[in-house]
Amino acid sequence: MKIGVLALQGAFQEHCAILKRLGVEAVQVRLPEQLEDLDGLIIPGGESTSIGKLADWYGLMEPLVKVSRSVPVWGTCAGLVFMARDVGMDQPVLKAMDMVIERNAFGRQVDSFEEDLEISGLEGGPFHGVFIRAPAIVRVGKEVEIIGKLKDGRIVAARQGKLLVTAFHPELTSDDRLHKYFVDMCKAASQ
Ligand code: GLN
Repeated sequence: MKIGVLALQGAFQEHCAILKRLGVEAVQVRLPEQLEDLDGLIIPGGESTSIGKLADWYGLMEPLVKVSRSVPVWGTCAGLVFMARDVGMDQPVLKAMDMVIERNAFGRQVDSFEEDLEISGLEGGPFHGVFIRAPAIVRVGKEVEIIGKLKDGRIVAARQGKLLVTAFHPELTSDDRLHKYFVDMCKAASQ
């Protein structure tokens, strides 16, 4: 298993550390050629406008769109924004997943919060969600399966085939279950 982590900006190191702990080769992706031969790709949290601008400058937009059509891709927080079809703002995004999202849906940095979530398909009880200037998913297309909601009903985790998005930061907890879940998606897709 070789999983890439888009390493332009944001929390890419934390994702790499967890992948290594799970015995998976983690590749920091900054150049188009580093997207070749991957079994999956993680797009980390950070700032989606910065990630988009840098991806544009480094000629990564088109190769990333191609990757999103061939191997599993998991976007966390800003990575979720970067994968959405409609973000309600003019910024470079992959438009890979059929969903409308709202950036900073819960307010500013001071409004960051944590909540335990039931994620369908994830065994072992609730997952501790860390939300930092997080987006929310406002509307999804027919192909999208909602797998996690907050108690107030807002959608914060979803899947569309090989694509996975979470509005929170699993890489900032010591719970590896979502990373294992994604590695399993990559294993299944490579068979
Ligand atoms: N608010 C950021 C954005 O819209 C995401 C924040 C995060 O990734 N923690 O890009």
